[in-house]
Amino acid sequence: MLGGVNFARAQDLLLSVRGGGYSVAGKAVCDGGLMLDLSPMKGIRVDSARCTAEAQAGLTLGEFDHETQVFGLATTLGVVSMTSIAGLTLGGGLGWLNGKHGLACDNLLSADVVTADGRLLTASEEENEDLFWGIRGGGGNFGVVTSFRYRLHPVGPVLAGGLQHPAPKARDVLRFYHEFASGCPDELSTSASLGRAPDGSLVAGITVCYCGAIEEGERVLRPLRAFGSPLEDGIRPMAYTALQSAPDEGFPPGKQHYWKSSNLEHLSDEAIEVMVRLVKEMPSPSSGMGLQQMHGAASRVDPAATASPHRDEHYDLLILSQWANPADSEENVRWTRELFEAMKPFVGKGVYVNNLGEEEGDRVKEAYGEHYERLVALKDRYDPTNLFRLNQNVKPTAHSGATS
Ligand SMILES: Cc1cc2nc3c(=O)[nH]c(=O)nc-3n(C[C@H](O)[C@H](O)[C@H](O)COP(=O)(O)OP(=O)(O)OC[C@H]3O[C@@H](n4cnc5c(N)ncnc54)[C@H](O)[C@@H]3O)c2cc1C
Repeated sequence: MLGGVNFARAQDLLLSVRGGGYSVAGKAVCDGGLMLDLSPMKGIRVDSARCTAEAQAGLTLGEFDHETQVFGLATTLGVVSMTSIAGLTLGGGLGWLNGKHGLACDNLLSADVVTADGRLLTASEEENEDLFWGIRGGGGNFGVVTSFRYRLHPVGPVLAGGLQHPAPKARDVLRFYHEFASGCPDELSTSASLGRAPDGSLVAGITVCYCGAIEEGERVLRPLRAFGSPLEDGIRPMAYTALQSAPDEGFPPGKQHYWKSSNLEHLSDEAIEVMVRLVKEMPSPSSGMGLQQMHGAASRVDPAATASPHRDEHYDLLILSQWANPADSEENVRWTRELFEAMKPFVGKGVYVNNLGEEEGDRVKEAYGEHYERLVALKDRYDPTNLFRLNQNVKPTAHSGATS
């Protein structure tokens, strides 16, 4: 890895860094440059006594969870097991355990980082603290992370799964969901979605993960499960790995993707109305709109403690368009943009950096929020020539006028 970074710098090559290649912005790959592909780096060592895991940067979430769950342990990662730990953790990392255990980056204890000048540094609370702060939310701006050490927690089995309601009930269901989710305990994290079922019908879905005692989870979830007449109630005790891989088949490789996203603090009736109305016009049956809840422990972390700034309780609102045929791109992109425009009156200023698309460089400051200037100072220190620029880029001062 050191050789690759030194070579790219010496030859003045465009450099990209690939973890699992799942970022929607597609910046992990580059044309006419050098890609450092960490995906073959699959090493992991779990210390069950200390509840930690040392994991190399090429692991997918599924591979990581598989090893830690052998010991009944896990940490917060995302909700689709095929994505990689690297890009996800560096951008923050929102998943089913966030209410109880914080974001993925909140569980990072240390990382090995190859910096732009070719040094291999350890970043932790004790060493290179400024770099440690920056890689917890600042993405790949500061170097190539070769391995991550995480704090683990006893997890599983969990009480988890989904409820599906018919579209005509979507307004009532989302209204009730918002009320329910707003008061839920840390052990429970939730998401809601509007999309199409395999038979093509429009459905409102709610997915939950309760990571505490199953009987208590049954009690907590009773009102949600009793609401209305769901078409399907798939909530049951299951292995944490089963929950983590359940959505995978909905995201097959090779599809076209276009996303728009923002943080949403309050799910008002007016916002629900817009969502329900415009989701009906969705051109692709594989697309949808999701609300992923960020709350509890993740929201109690001091915003200044890491570079991941958006710590108020909110939903990560994501309009996720995916379709098969590139010829259909125009109508799918148009629909995504129209829905996003219509949702603008209801969303906040912030956005999760890992949801930003290729064309959204102008929203980078919204993603890094109040930390942007501190990140620029860090960039000046660790990467003043912007060698690591294929990311949601924090431009160093010397490049602040540059367009790429
Ligand atoms: C289907 C799907 C579901 C998702 N679900 C969630 C979710 O539940 N929660 C969530 O938080 N996010 C989620 N995401 C977003 C996810 O966090 C990002 O896509 C993330 O970038 C994936 O990591 P990756 O390593 O696979 O990405 P890559 O595309 O490989 O990398 C993205 C960027 O990260 C940087 N990077 C990657 N690896 C390294 C490294 N080792 N060192 C330095 N920089 C590096 C680079 O700048 C690179 O351009 C989802 C994405 C998809 C496609």
